[in-house]
Amino acid sequence: MTERMFDRELHEECGVFGVFNIHDAAELTYYGLHALQHRGQEGAGIVVSDETRLLGVKNEGNVRFVFPENVLKKLTGQHAIGHVRYSTTGGGGLLNVQPFLFRHGSGDFALCHNGNIVNSKQLKNRLERNGSIFQSSSDSEILAHLIQRETRKDRLDAIKEALIYLEGAFAFLLLTKDKLYAMRDKHGLRPLSIGKFNGGYVIASETCALDAVGATFIKDVQPGEIVIIDKHGITYDSYTPDTEEKICAMEYIYFSRPDSDLLGLNVHRSRKACGRILAKEAPVEADIVIGVPDSSLSAASGYAEASGIPYEMGLIKNKYSGRTFIEPSQALREKGVKMKLAPVRSVIAGQRVILIDDSIVRGTTSMKIVSMLKDMGAKEVHMRIASPPIIAPCFYGVDTSTIEELISATNSIEALRQLIGADSLAFLSMDGLSEALGHRSFCHACFTKEYPTHLYDDIKEANKDGKF
Ligand code: SF4
Repeated sequence: MTERMFDRELHEECGVFGVFNIHDAAELTYYGLHALQHRGQEGAGIVVSDETRLLGVKNEGNVRFVFPENVLKKLTGQHAIGHVRYSTTGGGGLLNVQPFLFRHGSGDFALCHNGNIVNSKQLKNRLERNGSIFQSSSDSEILAHLIQRETRKDRLDAIKEALIYLEGAFAFLLLTKDKLYAMRDKHGLRPLSIGKFNGGYVIASETCALDAVGATFIKDVQPGEIVIIDKHGITYDSYTPDTEEKICAMEYIYFSRPDSDLLGLNVHRSRKACGRILAKEAPVEADIVIGVPDSSLSAASGYAEASGIPYEMGLIKNKYSGRTFIEPSQALREKGVKMKLAPVRSVIAGQRVILIDDSIVRGTTSMKIVSMLKDMGAKEVHMRIASPPIIAPCFYGVDTSTIEELISATNSIEALRQLIGADSLAFLSMDGLSEALGHRSFCHACFTKEYPTHLYDDIKEANKDGKF
């Protein structure tokens, strides 16, 4: 799969960034969101507080597009939350761009969300039956309505009570005029880290965003934890004792930036380890190892290191092909690859090439790349995938599409090799992935169909042909 901004095969859901008690919070949030831009480019928003009011701007487009300097300057205040969006549940459109801002007699608040609530349909139906009116089709708004049902309670108790109803993946940030709350689902499927900066606090989906603004890492928000930041400092609470760490394996394999650390493990290092283990599990004689830029380069360097076969820059990404918007058809997707990746003829010609990619989703990109390499004169192309085959959809905020579109769900490895046109094809084993991730507990449902949460009937119904 090619690099995220240039390919539509697999998509991250969103990124969140929060600031408390730091001068020009909106500007800091802008830089934080910029560092998280790879997690979503379809919409961006920031809500600020100066302790007297909440003020927000959001729009479709990337962070630079949504926040020119004159817009950013109007967002004055020392607290802020921001969001970059790739649409999953609820689809696209301005109404679904976050943060959502709620005006209410019990106190205004804004919230943004990374992840996907798997019982959203059930909760929404219940809330609507009880009089809730939703402003968007996004599942993220459900939390706000659940909180508002509990107005007789203290705000923290109302949030805790509301979170218990939610099933699925979430990293939420919630901002009131004078408090910032951060919370993670009970499996910790999506990452969320806290940092300190200039006497204030910063919270981000990935540590690369903490680094980007010069914040010092404090800790990761724990599964089932709720973090409260106010003028007294930071306090930690939990809304459920029923927790089990299951961070998304794909965060390591593909989504997160290589300079981010997730639960103390650096993403680049984990990818390199995947490549090293893959070289041991699936060796092959060849002249060079190349990776698909950018997300597979770490794994390619690991494979080269372990195999002793030279690492080469065989594929170049065209940095100026710009951002493509929706590419709905297979035909357009195939065209897109050609525009955005170029093989280096003098590196490839006459060589037996090991091509490392981080994963295969629909397979269209792999087919294109193998054929481009062969057209450039590669003698052999041996494809090695630095993760196990994706055989099941994700319901936790990653757009892996339907099971029918997942090429490994419907083809044997040999059939897939033939379709892709490679001389050989091998995937990293589940044991290999577990070793690369330091044997921590992680979600691997898209490789094994072992989902960490209950799946509701509407989700099963939507995938009924997929034979769970
Ligand atoms: S199913 Fe796959 S993509 Fe989804 S959360 Fe689990 S590991 Fe990540």
